[in-house]
Amino acid sequence: MSEVKISKRRFIAGAVCPACSELDTIQMWDEDGVPHRECVGCGYADTLNEQGQSVPKEIGTRVNKAAVKPADPKVQSVHFFPNPKLKKPAP
Ligand SMILES: [Zn+2]
Repeated sequence: MSEVKISKRRFIAGAVCPACSELDTIQMWDEDGVPHRECVGCGYADTLNEQGQSVPKEIGTRVNKAAVKPADPKVQSVHFFPNPKLKKPAP
């Protein structure tokens, strides 16, 4: 009895597709409170996690993209954000 509530899709003005770099092709909607995005130009789709970070749906293409390297054990991830509030949301 888990009904997924899906909101209406809406275009995001000024949004640029991370895959094809087209402007104003991104549609956004919510499924069960989870923001989903999809590009009507190239079909790129992803969701956003709680941190507002992009979680691509297509996993088959990840090899072609700038590979996310596994954390180097020698280099502890010491990320220093002078002001975390200035962190830009994903476009
Ligand atoms: Zn696109």
